Amino acid sequence: MKQVLTVSCKLQVTPQQVIKIDETLRAFCDACEYVNKEVPEKVTNEIAMQSLVYQDVRARFGLSSQLAIHAIRRVSGNRKTAKQKGSKVKGFTPTSATYDARIFSFREKDWTVSLTMLGKRERFKLHIGNFQRGKLKGQNPKTATLVKNRKGEYYLNIQLESEPPEPQKSDKVLGVDLGRTDIAVTSEGEKFSGKDVTKVRDHHSHLRAKLQQKASKGTRSTRRRVRNLLKRLSGKEQRFQKHVNHTISYRLIQHAKSNGMVIALEDLTGIRERTNQMPRAKKERRRSNSWAFYQLRQFLEYKAIANGVEIVMVNPAYTSQTCHQCDHIHPVRGESYRSGKQFTCGHCGWNGDADENGAKNIAKIGAVINQPGGSGVACSLSDHLSGLLKTPSAYAVG
Ligand SMILES: [Zn+2]
Repeated sequence: MKQVLTVSCKLQVTPQQVIKIDETLRAFCDACEYVNKEVPEKVTNEIAMQSLVYQDVRARFGLSSQLAIHAIRRVSGNRKTAKQKGSKVKGFTPTSATYDARIFSFREKDWTVSLTMLGKRERFKLHIGNFQRGKLKGQNPKTATLVKNRKGEYYLNIQLESEPPEPQKSDKVLGVDLGRTDIAVTSEGEKFSGKDVTKVRDHHSHLRAKLQQKASKGTRSTRRRVRNLLKRLSGKEQRFQKHVNHTISYRLIQHAKSNGMVIALEDLTGIRERTNQMPRAKKERRRSNSWAFYQLRQFLEYKAIANGVEIVMVNPAYTSQTCHQCDHIHPVRGESYRSGKQFTCGHCGWNGDADENGAKNIAKIGAVINQPGGSGVACSLSDHLSGLLKTPSAYAVG
């Protein structure tokens, strides 16, 4: 499996080069618009699109053959994404163009790149620090994206491909419970609080409600202003959540990596049902069943691959109702040992954080799964545990 790392490099540009880049970005954008207009909407296949408009695009916009192909590819890609979402490609802005090895090259000795513009190639010095230099050293990148940001600065996002490290084998397992009051709790008892996120989300939903009320009474222009505000609000909320998810996944992966551990997670397909199994207040549902959990899981997965940390998936059934200490299960709804954040075992008397108990169970089952054809102990424990999972009623304590 290939892993792609993007290194964002600011370009040092002269006033003449600014003109050339802007011309190129403009032509690339115009070409995309043209392709999107000329090719019938239902056509999304890149080759089919090329056969229809490639010659035209070359003749009209002065793009090199590779840039023309990339413009068509861009439209094809955007159409496919839009189709999945059930929407249409709206349009393009002259802020980005795609480059590959035929029209882009990187030179390490003076930290420059050469890019095909309209007409001939142009060489740019990279305005970069040690981090980017370290990443680019000894590399021969094949693809890049030229980007103009809102401040009018130019960046080349260079893609580096590498083989991720072999996942490290280990019998130490870190169980992670993706909870709801806390975003994540580990089997070692470390908690990643969701308080900040919840606060921001509640604040935003309060604002949203107020704004919507205002819009319902307002004039047309008020409604438009409100709509824009709402859009900005949701962007802000999502960026904050993303930041939090990045931080949590980074810390979990680093912890596992530096301690030589495997990470065990619940199969996320169960999360939605689990957090919604009880009739709950609207407020709490809004907090729990969101894309945020899916995002955190995705972040964990790709960071695990990048860092050579292995992830094992655990059946989520009963991980929250089982006592990790004595393996007793009480799956009867409403009679669980679990009460809010607290877990009390009616059998052995263990008492503590409910999510931590869940995480410890995840680690335990993860350890069993992680030992393929392992020792006799692991096998019998596995049998015992899977027996538990299959016949919970037999172990239920009234
Ligand atoms: Zn117990």
